[in-house]
Parts: sequence; structure tokens; C-alpha cells
Amino acid sequence: MVDEQVEQEWDVIVLGGGPAGYFAAIRCAESAIDNGSPLRVLVVERARRSLGKVIISGGERCNVTHACFDPARLVTYYPRGSAALRGAFSRFQPRDTVNWFEKRGVILKTEEDGRMFPVTDSSKTIVDCLEDAARRAGVTVWNQASLLNIDRISALPEQAARFRITLRRDTLDSEQVLSAHSVLFATGSESFCHNILARLGHTIEPPVPSLFTFKITDVRIAELAGLSVPVAGLRFVGDPDSEKVPFPPQQGALLITHWGLSGPAILRLSAWGARWLYERNYQAGLLVNWLHPLSVELVYEHLSKHRNLPENNRKKPGAHSVFPQIPVRLWKRLTEAAGISETQNWADVSRLCMRRLAEELTMGRYDVEGKGIFKDEFVTCGGVNLDEVDFKTMQSRLVAGLYFAGEILDIDGLTGGFNFQNAWTTGWLAGGAMAKL
Ligand SMILES: Cc1cc2nc3c(=O)[nH]c(=O)nc-3n(C[C@H](O)[C@H](O)[C@H](O)COP(=O)(O)OP(=O)(O)OC[C@H]3O[C@@H](n4cnc5c(N)ncnc54)[C@H](O)[C@@H]3O)c2cc1C
Repeated sequence: MVDEQVEQEWDVIVLGGGPAGYFAAIRCAESAIDNGSPLRVLVVERARRSLGKVIISGGERCNVTHACFDPARLVTYYPRGSAALRGAFSRFQPRDTVNWFEKRGVILKTEEDGRMFPVTDSSKTIVDCLEDAARRAGVTVWNQASLLNIDRISALPEQAARFRITLRRDTLDSEQVLSAHSVLFATGSESFCHNILARLGHTIEPPVPSLFTFKITDVRIAELAGLSVPVAGLRFVGDPDSEKVPFPPQQGALLITHWGLSGPAILRLSAWGARWLYERNYQAGLLVNWLHPLSVELVYEHLSKHRNLPENNRKKPGAHSVFPQIPVRLWKRLTEAAGISETQNWADVSRLCMRRLAEELTMGRYDVEGKGIFKDEFVTCGGVNLDEVDFKTMQSRLVAGLYFAGEILDIDGLTGGFNFQNAWTTGWLAGGAMAKL
């Protein structure tokens, strides 16, 4: 049933009550008050509860942002969107995020790896802060309200264009029609909204997952779940080997799991390779350097010296790891893979086996068979094509009055607070621009 009687006029409608939508709505309402001309700002959220992902984020601690305050360096953490975000971060960056929350009573702390969390270690602190700020700024929030359709009402020359929006309101068990001058899409990676935007003329880069672990079944790492090395180097090999892999190798901690491999280095590689891996149905050859940054030659040299020391002649190669960063159980598997038997002494190890061991240690090939999940964070790569958006205002270059913020854009970052920072920055810019009606 469409309730035609209750068509309501709003100044600004924000579609999606996630972090990007809330940040934009708050900035818009606050700026309009500061400008002396308050606006009617409505947030429309499909779920019963807004800010659902903030609640579950960062293991319910909410990794709000990252302590990287140089925009030029910050953009290097975004496999997609770095060029577009460069200017945006010069206007609103992690330092501004820290100040924004601090001004509203939320203090953030920095962990050793640069991730920033509320000092309470609770995502509820962030949710409460955003909801409180929205209430204070006079933002109206409708939950259980879903966008069904949007049309641009053609404007007469003397009138500003408006949008007509049809919603499904579960609480009223009806549809409702609204209108507004400005509409912000902050609906995340929703394909339904992608389709609506495609109808309005926008190009949508196909959505595919980012930030995942790798499924690998390999005797060298079987039943070693929990073992890790502090810094491994990872890169994919093309198929055929001459194919150029279109993203850089990654380094970082590497963790063996029941499924295969995980840890920061894998997550980074999954983000950079999100589309490449998707196109290969998540099957690719991965080269692992367990001793990054050592080269195969250096490792071979080191192994030769170790073997030639008289005190090592009669020791068993598999019993003790020559490199302290490699756990002994993993070391034993790698020596076996190199063809060195349990009964051999170092003195019996051939040059060929030593060469093989050096290769196992620095360029062992593991076949990725599929994609796992990463429980702490998950994002989608793909979304609204960035060339069609003006990053000073986040307004569509194709449809005046239409704005975008957050994950609906073809932007995604590595783990560490970068995805929320995208939501804060683009939401803040869009909110400011919409306030200048
Ligand atoms: C488990 C998990 C943990 C994470 N942890 C972190 C972290 O610690 N740090 C970090 O930086 N990033 C983290 N992320 C990523 C981060 O949550 C997202 O990048 C961020 O939430 C994107 O914000 P957004 O507002 O653009 O979209 P969303 O948060 O997805 O919000 C979009 C909103 O729009 C609503 N919506 C969709 N369609 C409609 C419709 N038709 N009508 C009305 N409403 C609609 C949705 O219900 C949703 O509430 C995590 C993600 C996950 C899944």
C-alpha cells in the first residue's frame, strides 16, 4: 500500500545509517545550524538498529582509525581509491577524526601497530557518541525503513531539482514517499542500491570481497595451526609464470591456521589481489619467503657455513631451526620437503638438498585453493566509479544533488582502521557540502 497522503518534504535524506551516513548527517545538521539556517535531515536505515557494523567492528572494540597523519602515506593503505582520497584526506584525516571524537568526549588510544581504539575498548562508546551527536544536532533517524526507489523530479528553471524517494517502512507496514533537495547514498556494498544508481546513469565496478584468508592444503603446513613467523614475504606467481601480477608483493606476520594461511601479510595480499583472485576463482600459486628479506643466495650461504662448522657435523638438520624466527616444527617440515631425512647428519646433506632447503625457506610455492573468511573485518571492493564523483563535495558529477559516502564507493582499505577512516572522511565532506543548500 502506498500512503500518498504522507508525502513528506525533507531538505536532506541520508540513505543508510552506518558510520558514513551518521557522520554525514551530523556534519550536515551541525553546519546548517552554525550557518543560521537549520535543515531537516533524515537518516533512513533498513535494519532495526543503526550502526550495525560499528557494533561488531574490531572484535567489538571498534578500530576507529589509524595513527597515520600524513595524507600522502595514508593513501598507500588503500588498494582502491588512493588517488581520489589524496585530496579528501588533506581536508579530513585521522587527526581530525581523533579531534572530532575528543570534542564529543571520546578519547582514542593508539596500539603498537598504529590502530586506534576508544580507551574504553568498547565499540558501544563510538555508537553512543554518534547517536548522541545526531540527536543533539536534530537529525531524525528512521529504522526499519528501506529505500525502494528514487526518481529525480525535473525542475523548472526557477526551482531547484528535487528527488522523490519511495521507502518501505516496516513499522508502519506501508510504503511512504518523501522528497528532498539532496540525497546521500551511504548504503555500503548493497547490490540493490548499486542497481538503482546504475539506472540513474552511474557506473558500478562489480563488487567482490576483500580482506580474507587463504585456503591451502599442503603437507608442509598441515597440523601446524597456531605457528607463525614475524615477517614473511609473499607474492603470487602468474599463470603462465610470465604473466605479470598487477600488484606488489606484501610482507608482514604470517600465521598458519587449520585452513591454510592468515595473518596481516595474507590480509594485505588478499586486499591488493581481491579482483585478480576473484577472476581466478581464488586459485593461484603463492610464493612464501619465511625469512623475508633474506634472498635464496644469502640463505644458502648461511646454511653452508652452518653445515661446515665442525660442531654441527653430527647434528641432525631437522632437530634445530638454523634461523630463530622459524619455529622448529615448521623447520622440520621444510627440511623434509627439501629431501633431508631424519636420520641424516648435517655432514651428509648434499649441496643439492641445501639449495632446495634455501628455496623452501625463501620461495616455497603453496597453491591457494580458495578463500576463507576473516572474522575481525570484511569489506567489499567495487562500487560507484570514482571518476563520476567530485571528491571535494562527494557530489555525483552526473546527477546534481546526489552524494556518496563510505563503502558504496569503489574504495577499500587494508585492515587497521582505514575503512572507517574512508567513511568518516567522505561522510564529513558530503555532509558539509549538503549543508550549503
Ligand atoms: C565484522 C566487521 C568488522 C569490521 N571492523 C572494522 C574495524 O575495526 N575498522 C575499520 O576501519 N573497518 C572495519 N570494518 C569495515 C567497516 O565496518 C566498513 O568499511 C564500514 O562500516 C562502511 O561504512 P558505511 O557506512 O559505508 O557502510 P555500512 O556500515 O555497511 O552501512 C550501510 C548501512 O546502509 C543500510 N542499508 C543498506 N541498504 C539499504 C536500503 N536499501 N535502505 C536503507 N538502508 C540500507 C545498511 O543496513 C547499513 O546499516 C569491519 C567490517 C566488518 C564486517
